[in-house]
Amino acid sequence: MSSPGATSGSSSSSSSSSESGERVQKSPEEWQSKLSSEQYQVARQGGTERAFTGAYWNNKANGMYSCVCCDAPLFSSSTKFDSGTGWPSFWDGVESGAIATNVDQSHGMVRTEINCARCDAHLGHLFNDGPAPTGHRYCVNSASLNFQEGTSS
Ligand SMILES: [Zn+2]
Repeated sequence: MSSPGATSGSSSSSSSSSESGERVQKSPEEWQSKLSSEQYQVARQGGTERAFTGAYWNNKANGMYSCVCCDAPLFSSSTKFDSGTGWPSFWDGVESGAIATNVDQSHGMVRTEINCARCDAHLGHLFNDGPAPTGHRYCVNSASLNFQEGTSS
């Protein structure tokens, strides 16, 4: 932590403003070519897959769930639990900065939408009726996730 004034004018401070963010942005056409139509509809257009139809709601393998769009790690199988909803459900994200939240007032409800912090992919919604220790329930669409089996701790 340098004192204010000590750094003034020493060099041109033109460093990139996005060095820590590492944002991923693509055009709709680029996303469509990368994703299946269902993945695109859910992750890029805020859709919701039908309950009990996704690839991962009943997946019990150990591993990491990452963003289907940009591959950012989002959820570990160690926080997955059986919510009975038909969607993959987690009580925490893999790290606090990985998942962004927005207030979603669509469909006459006020809900908390969860998005990939890196590329803004729609993931699902966050509820407060989850299990201990967080009490959170991240209700996520399988279509927004890629699963990589492994021995994640
Ligand atoms: Zn992403």
